[in-house]
Amino acid sequence: MPDKPNNVFNVGHSVPNLRDIIRQHSLRLETALSLDPGSARIEVQCLLQFVLQQNRAYLLSHPEDVLDAEQQARYAALFERRLNGEPIAYLLGEREFFGLNFKVTQATLIPRQDTELLVELALQRFPSPQPSTAQGGGSLYRVLDLGTGSGAVALSIAHARPDAVVTAADISNQALAVAGENAQRLNIGNVRLLCSDWFAELHHEHYDLIVANPPYIACDDAHLMQGDLRFEPRAALASGVDGLDDIRRIAAQAAAHLNDHGWLLLEHGHDQAARVRDLLRQSGFVDVFSARDLAGIERVSGGQVFSHTVCQHPPFPA
Ligand code: GLN
Repeated sequence: MPDKPNNVFNVGHSVPNLRDIIRQHSLRLETALSLDPGSARIEVQCLLQFVLQQNRAYLLSHPEDVLDAEQQARYAALFERRLNGEPIAYLLGEREFFGLNFKVTQATLIPRQDTELLVELALQRFPSPQPSTAQGGGSLYRVLDLGTGSGAVALSIAHARPDAVVTAADISNQALAVAGENAQRLNIGNVRLLCSDWFAELHHEHYDLIVANPPYIACDDAHLMQGDLRFEPRAALASGVDGLDDIRRIAAQAAAHLNDHGWLLLEHGHDQAARVRDLLRQSGFVDVFSARDLAGIERVSGGQVFSHTVCQHPPFPA
């Protein structure tokens, strides 16, 4: 990237330059939020990049620059909010997920790296791409993402598979507005947004694949009062006394909205895999499995429906 002309005031030694700010403020963040030194440093650098509208290479190669008055004021306000615990993703207004950049606001959960597993498992379930014909190829794979939030899961799937048509549903119109903006920013057209309390507005619609990262934290879990979670929408995090209220609802209703051989994939908490597998089996799913995230924790469970074996053909008498 070409160097921009130096747009900062050089007003002498007392004004901290970028190197000083990074050093001093990393330490303050590290102490205030119990961050590890590397993360604290990266966060300060991200805030500076955001204020300067410069990339990382620029920041690192201009350690002697100082902020002008306006930049200083904006940086100080952001740094103060971060010191008070506000998530860095809300301050920057974006978070990267599955290689794409998503806008996030306080109306949406901040996409987690753990959730990339849900996308990977979803993409593995797609049939291989149909060779296109004069008529435009085979039928479109129908995917439903429940509780889409910023749209991270739905849009990552839609982006990776243009042969899918993805319905992204959420109960929050504010979240759907963010998901819609993300679809536009990323130029993803094969997504439909729908305001729905889980399946309530989906009536007789059927899908080949249903995915969800629903709320799954127990409502009295102490983590809700810590770190980033304090600032995220409670309705996207907490779900009843054992955290499984919404997963129970989704598991119970999903089979009625899946085509034969369709899959349901659910993200859940670190200690919920066995209970989610039980719920899936009780709801008629087969080939029930759990998959581990990068930390080795069972983080996503899923199952398949075979409607002909589950409900339509009672066994013939011998
Ligand atoms: N994995 C998130 C957390 O524990 C929770 C996300 C969710 O409830 N879907 O921070």
